[in-house]
Amino acid sequence: MISSIHRPTQAVIDLEAIGHNIAAVKEHIPSETFVYAVVKANAYGHGAVAVARSVEDQVDGFCVSNIDEAVELRQAGITKEILVLGVVMPNQLGYAKEYDIVLTIASLDWYALAEREGMSLDGLRCHIKIDSGMGRIGVRTSVDANQLISSLKAAGALVEGVFTHFATADEADTQHFEEQLATFKKIVSELSDCPKRVHASNSATSLWHSETIFSAVRLGIVIYGLNPSGRELTLPYRLKPALELTSSIIHVKELEANAAVGYGATYRSQEKEVIATIPIGYADGWTRDMQGFEVLVEGQRCEIVGRVSMDQLTIRLPEAYPLGTPVTLIGRNGAEEITATDVADKRQTINYEVLCLLSDRIPRFYKGETHAK
Ligand SMILES: *Cc1c(COP(=O)(O)O)cnc(C)c1O
Repeated sequence: MISSIHRPTQAVIDLEAIGHNIAAVKEHIPSETFVYAVVKANAYGHGAVAVARSVEDQVDGFCVSNIDEAVELRQAGITKEILVLGVVMPNQLGYAKEYDIVLTIASLDWYALAEREGMSLDGLRCHIKIDSGMGRIGVRTSVDANQLISSLKAAGALVEGVFTHFATADEADTQHFEEQLATFKKIVSELSDCPKRVHASNSATSLWHSETIFSAVRLGIVIYGLNPSGRELTLPYRLKPALELTSSIIHVKELEANAAVGYGATYRSQEKEVIATIPIGYADGWTRDMQGFEVLVEGQRCEIVGRVSMDQLTIRLPEAYPLGTPVTLIGRNGAEEITATDVADKRQTINYEVLCLLSDRIPRFYKGETHAK
C-alpha cells in the first residue's frame, strides 16, 4: 500500500523516547544481560528500520518474527545479531545463511523435514525453543530438546541459545508463570549440552519478574513506552510512549438539529451542532468500533459521532475551528492525553494491537524530521 504522505494524517515517532525506555529497563536489569530489541511487525508500527538504526548502539541484537523482517534489517545495514522468533520453513534456510540470521528451531519435525528436503544445516546459527506452557511453538520435553540439539550439532549447525516464552507474565496472578518458569528451568537443567544463551524474558517478565532473567531479555512493547499489562499491573518506573497519531480538520459545517451523520445514519444532531471531518478511517486501522470514542482538538475531548468510514470519520466540535486545525488521536494535546491503552480499552483489546493495526497508508515521521504537511 502506498503511504499517503500528502494527507495530514500521520504517525509521529519519538526515537529519543524509545532510547529513554531502553535505558530505563537496562538500569533495572543485571548489566551483563544481552539485550534484544523486538522490532517485529514493523517495530509494532513504529518503523523497523528507523527504530533499529536509532537504537543499534544501545542493544546487543534484534528480534523479528519472520525471515523477511530479518532480511529487511540486514539490507538496511543493521549488522548486530538478528534472531527470528517464529518458525522459518527449512526451504528458506538459504536466506538465513546468506544474511547471517539466527533462526528459532522449534520441533524435531522441522529437523526431519530439513533432512528430507536435503537442506544443509552446516553453519546455520540457531536457538532452540522450549514450550514451557505457552502451547504455541517449541519442544516440550528435555528428551526432545536434547535430541534436537544433538541432531542439529551433528549436522553442523551452531546452537547458540535456548529460550521460552511466558503466557502470563503480564498478569497479577503468577501461578501459571511460576509453573512455566519451573518447567523451563527443569528442562534447561536436563540439557546435556546447554547452549550459551538462555532467555525467557519479554517486556512483562523484564519489568515484573526481573529476578528470572537468565542471560538475555527480549524487549518489545516496553521500548515503545507502553505497559504490557494494559492497566492490570503498575509500571515500576516511567516509560515514554513513542508514537503519536495526528491529523487535522479537513471539513467543518454547522448542522441543524436532527441531521443524520455517516453510513447507516446512526447519529443525529441533538440541536445545532458543529461537525468536523477528519481524514482517517478503518483502512488506516482506526476501526469502526471507535465510534463514540474521542479525539483531542484544541486541548478538548471531542466525540467521534456517526460511523467510522473507510477513509474518514466525523467528530462533534464545541465551536467551528478552521480547516487545518490539528487533531490528536493518540498522544497529548494541551492538558489532555489519549494513550494507545485508552484506545485499546474502548476496543476491548490490547495496546499492542492498536499500534500494529495502524496501516501502511499512514506515513511515519520521526520527531525532528521535516514533516510532509
Ligand atoms: C513478541 C515477542 C516478544 C516481545 O514481547 P513484548 O511483550 O512486546 O515484550 C518476546 N518474545 C517472543 C517470543 C515474542 O514473540
